[in-house]
Amino acid sequence: MTAVNRVDLHTHSNCSDGVLEPAALVARAAQRQVELLALTDHDTVSGCEEAAAACERHGIRFVPGVELTCLWRQREVHVVGLNIERTHPVLRAHCAAVLERRRQRIAAMGQRLTLAGLPGEALVAEVLAAAVPTRTHLARSLCERGLAPTPQRAFERWLQRGRPGYVGAQWPPLAAAVASIVAAGGAAVLAHPHRYRVSNGALRELVGEFQAAGGVGIEVSLSGMGPGDTDRAAALARRFGLTGSIGSDFHEPNLPWRPLGRFAKLPDRITPVMVCLAP
Ligand code: AMP
Ligand code: MN
Ligand code: MN
Ligand code: MN
Repeated sequence: MTAVNRVDLHTHSNCSDGVLEPAALVARAAQRQVELLALTDHDTVSGCEEAAAACERHGIRFVPGVELTCLWRQREVHVVGLNIERTHPVLRAHCAAVLERRRQRIAAMGQRLTLAGLPGEALVAEVLAAAVPTRTHLARSLCERGLAPTPQRAFERWLQRGRPGYVGAQWPPLAAAVASIVAAGGAAVLAHPHRYRVSNGALRELVGEFQAAGGVGIEVSLSGMGPGDTDRAAALARRFGLTGSIGSDFHEPNLPWRPLGRFAKLPDRITPVMVCLAP
């Protein structure tokens, strides 16, 4: 059941692939009665300073965060870091290395798109103007040029794994992402477990390795999760003694399926990740 949540611990600004500036994201969160907000941009903490200042103006408690892209058994997995020290050199170096890989990957995707008959070089030039270039930026550029009707369709036609423009990337391993978050004093949370296309057994192995690396939480209520998804994530949290996190994974106001501050409540008997955050 979707509900009004006063806590949203997974959001994106235009410092990665969201569309709102951090201050505008915070203003929207305030309108939607959010009282505890984390900014968790992909592989960057560059929006946290602006978001913190805006939260102070709006009386929102701010949690500096990040969502790190990493690999587990050659699959892409995301780890959210909450309450990280945003200037910590280990985390900074981690994000800088990922950014370099992102740039190379977007360039390689442009070459693939050119081979497929699209204006790859021009698309890449546009996308590389972003602070953290992502496939989302490529999808939006394809739309703006009339080469896809919606970003979603751009993913399905060109950018998803198996499609002509797709190139994988050697993201850092899961354990390295968790270690960077832990080094920066943060709580590492396994993001959106329902989106990983692995068997239940493999998912348990993923969670076990994540915990062994220092992970302390798992997302149990996220917009887009059905009741069955939340039940499975909550069962994993209980089995491994992990805390639970909740959020929207908000990217933009006109994507109604990821609304800021609107997703299911934290299930019963799950310890909220917030208690392992410093006051
Ligand atoms: P990247 O990190 O560059 O691979 O881009 C991944 C981002 O693209 C994710 O954070 C999502 O916001 C978005 N994304 C991934 N898959 C899809 C999809 N099938 N449809 C729409 N957006 C997607
Ligand atoms: Mn994204
Ligand atoms: Mn993610
Ligand atoms: Mn996200």
